[in-house]
Amino acid sequence: MSAVLEKARPAIDLNGRISIYQPEQEGLIYPELPVFASHAEHRQHLKERLVAACRAFALQGFDYGFAGHLTVRDPEHPGVYWTNPMAVHFSQVKVSNLILADHDGRVVEGRHAVNRAGFVLHAAVHEAHPDIVAMCHAHTVHGTAFAALGKPLEPISQDAAAFFEDHVVIGDEAGQVAVEVKAGHKVANAFRGVKAAIHQNHGLLTASRHSIEAAAFWFIALERCCQQQMMVEATGIKPRLVTEERARYSREHVGSEYIGWLHFQAIWDQLAATQPDMLD
Ligand SMILES: [Zn+2]
Repeated sequence: MSAVLEKARPAIDLNGRISIYQPEQEGLIYPELPVFASHAEHRQHLKERLVAACRAFALQGFDYGFAGHLTVRDPEHPGVYWTNPMAVHFSQVKVSNLILADHDGRVVEGRHAVNRAGFVLHAAVHEAHPDIVAMCHAHTVHGTAFAALGKPLEPISQDAAAFFEDHVVIGDEAGQVAVEVKAGHKVANAFRGVKAAIHQNHGLLTASRHSIEAAAFWFIALERCCQQQMMVEATGIKPRLVTEERARYSREHVGSEYIGWLHFQAIWDQLAATQPDMLD
């Protein structure tokens, strides 16, 4: 198994299994973590999943003009990242129009420009945290609205508990477009030991130490949790929260990197069947 994917095991004894969802009964159809024979094979896999993450974001309506960027670290050269091309709709991203950029935002492979503002944030986080292999960011409706509140998500559901003590609210540089490198460093400093960040007055960010699939799924989940918390708050009725102890238990079992990867497998299968042009 790849060293990158190996890191994601939760600190719970499951008799050798990665997750409670992994079947103990043998012979059943169930997604398996990929194994790669070469960097080239691993790279092709990462590029295909990065494209699928972009297509999934399009289906979720996460596009806002040219805003929004997803990155995945190259498996052979960890100082460069595959990312979506500037000013190409998420629904039109494909393997052949991805670009590879370095820490400074210089495009080292591909014909399209890089999104300067987005890359400053992503490159700073990737550079400060060598274990972070993938990141997602977009200006979504509910995430951006929730980010204006400048507060963390509460564990109002089992799904929201996946983010309990596993996200931060970043107030630095709030609302000012991050085109300068120092703005990226402030975000990178705040992004420690968590899988998600709510950037005040800006939008959502997710990072994964496991895979682009996990980063993308937890981004989709985070946007949904922001929407649900605002729906609950709009009722004016104080919600009953999951207790801290239960929220931590749920986060360990259903909020892990592996679980994010596992959730994404259903999305991958649907996209592979309906949007085969993504692999062009
Ligand atoms: Zn942004």
